Amino acid sequence: MNIEELLSTLTTGNKRDISEISEISEISEISEISYALLNLSDVDMLKELAENRYQIRSFSEPSYWSSNENKDAILKSINRIVKFLDAVSITGCRCEKYAQASYFAHSETKHGLIEILTNDSDPKTRESKITCKCTACGQPYSVREFEAGFGRRSKWQKRTRP
Ligand SMILES: [Zn+2]
Repeated sequence: MNIEELLSTLTTGNKRDISEISEISEISEISEISYALLNLSDVDMLKELAENRYQIRSFSEPSYWSSNENKDAILKSINRIVKFLDAVSITGCRCEKYAQASYFAHSETKHGLIEILTNDSDPKTRESKITCKCTACGQPYSVREFEAGFGRRSKWQKRTRP
């Protein structure tokens, strides 16, 4: 993914004739690209996107989407992108995504993105307390995974580096 690709998805999202395409797919395309961005594991690519993030600023203005019926849903996705790229510009790492959405430590480990250090699971409450670290920058995290009625959720917190 590069900045042009990101810009073109956001631009067509606004210019598209809604009568031609269902509203659902318009919202989901911008939402999808926001999650695809969060899931980029190439740190250099992310840093480059973060450096060019000023180019997408105008899309986070509610006035840009004023004629769009789905502007609330679209702005939510764009804010996800902007917040993430702002954070990446500070720390320079992909692991900033853990502050933005619910991720599960074991599946992140399978993708080689983190390394689990300790795993403490309570079979009764099905709650897990995991400590892990990012394989790219070494940032340690505490992760709490729990049942939230409508499915399993997780909450990540940065720990102080040793
Ligand atoms: Zn990291």
